Amino acid sequence: MLRIAALILLLCPVVLLPDDRYDQQRERMVRQQIINRGIEHRPTIEAMRAVRRHIFVPEAQKRNAYHDGPLPIGYGQTISQPYIVAFMTEIVQPEPHHRVLEIGAGSGYQAAVLAEIVDEVYTIEIIPELGETAAARLRGLGYNNAEVKIADGYYGWEEHAPFDAIVVTAAAEHIPPPLVDQLKDGGKMVIPVGSPFFVQQLMLVEKKGEDITTRNLMPVRFVPFRRAED
Ligand code: SAH
Repeated sequence: MLRIAALILLLCPVVLLPDDRYDQQRERMVRQQIINRGIEHRPTIEAMRAVRRHIFVPEAQKRNAYHDGPLPIGYGQTISQPYIVAFMTEIVQPEPHHRVLEIGAGSGYQAAVLAEIVDEVYTIEIIPELGETAAARLRGLGYNNAEVKIADGYYGWEEHAPFDAIVVTAAAEHIPPPLVDQLKDGGKMVIPVGSPFFVQQLMLVEKKGEDITTRNLMPVRFVPFRRAED
């Protein structure tokens, strides 16, 4: 009996369904790129594990979805490297009761990672086609706590302010004052600052009463923060 079972097993080729393959790749990504590089915030790690990154990239990029780098998402924009997404999530210390604003929805991936952790995510995208696709994708995946608006994120989202955290995913030449205004007392903003097409500094901005402190975290390269009139 046992021998027959063994024979059947031998004759059956091991077929991994595509989704299983992605699950394995994602688990490897979390271990090698996220945990091994020092991300410690448990909810961030779990969110990176939960969000299926391959759903957020164009068909032709699916096989690269879990690679250690940024990927093109069309319209000259990119989805950030997984480590950067995790780093930016961890640094704002999101908590379940938080309300978070993201500038630069892009594919919706960073918004999904945040939406796994916090109650409310608001994300703004300046390119209508990207914003609409991201909104439909987030809705389709059941993220009812993430809302997308198509606008110039420079002005933030007054209606839902103040925010516990703001995550800016395009490189600005200066920190937009409306975003500082819309940060809650005790809130944190992470933003790449510097000239477009050069190396920028990822900065942490913290608001404590009237006090605004900034700290350089690491050199990064992001797509430029565009303005509505560009
Ligand atoms: N966070 C995204 C990746 C963002 S790439 C993701 O997870 O996929 C940066 C995005 O910022 C691009 O889609 C770009 O169109 C958008 N962007 C640039 N300037 C903007 C602005 N002023 N307001 C809103 N979105 C902006």
